[in-house]
Amino acid sequence: MSDTTIFDKIISREIPADIVYEDDQILAFKDIAPKAPVHYLIIPKQRIATLNDASQKDQALLGHMMLTASNLAAEAGIAESGYRVQMNVNKGGGQVVFHIHLHMFGGRQLAE
Ligand code: 5GP
Repeated sequence: MSDTTIFDKIISREIPADIVYEDDQILAFKDIAPKAPVHYLIIPKQRIATLNDASQKDQALLGHMMLTASNLAAEAGIAESGYRVQMNVNKGGGQVVFHIHLHMFGGRQLAE
């Protein structure tokens, strides 16, 4: 498996993305193929391939990603109506980009 993904190129600005949040640890940007009116991806700047590769040392980072998802939902005006936060893990879980990312999407009624 490659050590880098398209998300490293977004972090380094080699390819453009519509960035909605950034700090020293994480980046959030609009998904290129949105599933809902609001669909952001929240990623760590340091690559972790899958959630299976995360460990105790990543606990605060993972929490920071979750709280950023919630903050961005509030900023996008969908916190009260509702949204979904999802992380796909490995091929069977639907993961295509092997650099962990939280999907945060909403702005329409989501099916179960
Ligand atoms: P996964 O299936 O791995 O959980 O989700 C990967 C997500 O990354 C998909 O929703 C896909 O649309 C998004 N994506 C893939 N390539 C790019 C890209 O170059 N730019 C942006 N903004 N999103 C991308």
